[in-house]
Amino acid sequence: MPLALYDTWSRSVRPFAPLQPEHVGLYCCGPTVYDYAHIGNLRTYVFEDVLRRVLMLNGYQVRHVVNITDVGHLVSDADEGEDKMEKGSRRTGQSAWAIAAHYTEAFQSDWRALNLLEPTAWPRATDHIPEQLEFIAELQRNGYTYQTSDGVYFDTTRQDDYGHLARLERAGLRAGKRVAMGEKRDACDFALWKFSPADSQRQMEWDSPWGRGFPGWHIECSAMSAKYLGPWFDIHCGGEDHVGVHHSNEIAQTQARHGTRLANFWMHGHFLTLDDKKMTKADGDFVRLQTLIDQGIDPLAYRYLCLTAHYRSTLRFTEEAIGGAQSALDRLRKAYASWPVGGTAHEDFVSRFNAEVNQDLNVPRALALLWELVRSDVPAATRRATVDHFDTVLGLRLDDWQAPVQQVPADIAALLASRQEARAAGDWAEADRLRNALRDQGWQVEDSADGQRWSRCEK
Ligand code: AMP
Ligand code: ZN
Repeated sequence: MPLALYDTWSRSVRPFAPLQPEHVGLYCCGPTVYDYAHIGNLRTYVFEDVLRRVLMLNGYQVRHVVNITDVGHLVSDADEGEDKMEKGSRRTGQSAWAIAAHYTEAFQSDWRALNLLEPTAWPRATDHIPEQLEFIAELQRNGYTYQTSDGVYFDTTRQDDYGHLARLERAGLRAGKRVAMGEKRDACDFALWKFSPADSQRQMEWDSPWGRGFPGWHIECSAMSAKYLGPWFDIHCGGEDHVGVHHSNEIAQTQARHGTRLANFWMHGHFLTLDDKKMTKADGDFVRLQTLIDQGIDPLAYRYLCLTAHYRSTLRFTEEAIGGAQSALDRLRKAYASWPVGGTAHEDFVSRFNAEVNQDLNVPRALALLWELVRSDVPAATRRATVDHFDTVLGLRLDDWQAPVQQVPADIAALLASRQEARAAGDWAEADRLRNALRDQGWQVEDSADGQRWSRCEK
């Protein structure tokens, strides 16, 4: 079954074919680093990670770019209010630069805990000011900008199809949208460059041909995606909240400069909600991955929870749901660890799994298939090899999991310790003898770079 993906631009599931043979360019809008990421943000990155893994499963080499928004993100999409980074600085008493560095590090640590594959590049907005200035200058040359007393704006009325991604109704929008217009000429117009206020010194500001200031939010993604992937690449992702403003504006800018809609596929992850409310950073009150860890939840149980819902449906976060995910993961780990190595994957299960994930990432169905396999009478070693294949997409690190040491009976622990000593002393004959003794008692031992790994064997 060839890969098909839902494209927000066309509002349909379309067969996926890369623009360059065997290579896929994937751009994912990254975090704003004025605060910690909440688990809602992380759901979107889990969806994007699964997408990347499915692309790899289909034999593509993926160039995956995730930006870090470390500047100029205003409090609302309407270009009003305070800059979030400068506001965070006032709240904590640290410099805006220190805040950005701290939250970037925290974000990347969550990233690793969720076993998300490392992106090819993590470009930071503040490292790409010249590219953004060049982009704005080109838009100005093409006649798409105008200047007001507080910045340089993009004139969306120049494009008949502005907002097509969101199916925006311009007429209705103008009448209904309650935005503080300031000197903007149209409710949809947005800032490309904002001037620093005359009466205060900003921490993050740069010179530009129009005046000292800082970039608007949308320009960084148009500039950095074009730099790292070219102005026409395969897939652009983000959360569903980006469709109406951020992504519509990225497309408008890129259309005006390069004549493309930036990406062939636009894909959006639906929200995680908490008690039926959307979770947003601006609310201040949100659940972090660390909050879950402090409650004894494994980060990979959160990953498992994300896999239980299709990325295009809302996922409600509740205590029961995360508790259920943790116990499902525990059961899966124990079952997997009890199966011996050395089998080969089950062809039929593998092809059914591939068909599910290739159908617009139907991961909930793929998970159901996993449990069907766990409960089947397929030989244990075959089950293990098949699950290894599934886990290249699910990313639950099943082969890394080690049964907690206290679950090993004392006599087995003593045999393991003796074998560890024998290995340290280079006494391989004794190590082999102890391995056999352990096997006779129903435990298999493997040697890895990190030392011995053991698990109960199932016949
Ligand atoms: P931000 O740091 O606010 O720019 O958001 C980072 C990513 O998380 C973006 O792709 C957002 O669309 C996404 N996002 C924000 N809130 C949620 C949520 N509650 N559930 C899923 N994704 C979200
Ligand atoms: Zn973006």
